[in-house]
Amino acid sequence: MTRLIDGKAVAAKVRAEVAQGVAEYRARHGRAPGLHVVLAGEDPASAVYVRNKERAAAEVGMAGRVHRLPSSVGTEALLALVRELNQAPEVDGILVQLPLPPSAHAEPVLLAIDPAKDVDGFHPVNVGALWTGAPGLVPCTPRGCLRLLDELGVELAGARALVIGRSNIVGKPMAALLLGRSATVTVAHSRTRGLQELCREADVVVAAVGRAKLVKASWLREEAVVIDVGMNRDEAGKLCGDVDFEDVHGHVAALTPVPGGVGPMTIAMLLENTLRAARARAGD
Ligand code: NAP
Repeated sequence: MTRLIDGKAVAAKVRAEVAQGVAEYRARHGRAPGLHVVLAGEDPASAVYVRNKERAAAEVGMAGRVHRLPSSVGTEALLALVRELNQAPEVDGILVQLPLPPSAHAEPVLLAIDPAKDVDGFHPVNVGALWTGAPGLVPCTPRGCLRLLDELGVELAGARALVIGRSNIVGKPMAALLLGRSATVTVAHSRTRGLQELCREADVVVAAVGRAKLVKASWLREEAVVIDVGMNRDEAGKLCGDVDFEDVHGHVAALTPVPGGVGPMTIAMLLENTLRAARARAGD
């Protein structure tokens, strides 16, 4: 029997906790935490993501707004906006939606964000904090994966964890979080040899690859807990994960579905990061 991990339910729980925290913050400081999103250009997927973030922030009672800039915007104008947001006391979280239009460079813009307001957790100061165990802001998707593992009650200390994928936004921070919880962590990537054998040894598998239905039941132990970060389209154009759900369901101990697993957690953890940033800035 495979336990399906209901990311929608856990995300709703996180959002309710954040809403409570926002109400307390407002009572104490006379204003709600503020999330400010920078959206440059007309990328349709980005527009949808930003609208969802805006709606979710409003639903938990947060302040803030979306700063919309034309697709012709240059790096300097973005830097000027980021510096203004860094200085503004009512701004607790700054998120620059990627990709930026071709007229602007992402790296200097992301580096300019005050690490204390970097709710995506991509700034090198926050990356360093994560790997050294210091307080900081951690990328939302891997934090969401860890929260799902905690909700399941998975004992991570001493567990063999395999992270497939080594991106800066998912794989690497996921590995750091698991290591921070004393799991024995292996990170696999496109040059890894013997991926199937590594999977067979793992108690926890986090797949963040971007390859539809890559991971099969025969690769996995029956005791394995499998977190599927992938968001891909299958041959029929249907949303699917990096794990072959039909094949793996029924074969492992627990599995996140796609959609409805990791996906809903990302925005919930963004809200939590914004509340954390606000509290840390206020010295709470
Ligand atoms: P990415 O930057 O493209 O990184 C993919 C990683 O997978 C790379 O490290 C790559 O190795 C590795 N890889 C590629 N093919 C492989 C293979 N055959 N075997 C083993 N490793 C392989 O992707 P990402 O941004 O981390 O995202 C990964 C997936 O998660 C995507 O499907 C994305 O849409 C999804 N995602 C979902 C959420 C969410 O909220 N649910 C958030 C972010 C991402 P190399 O480093 O060697 O190239």
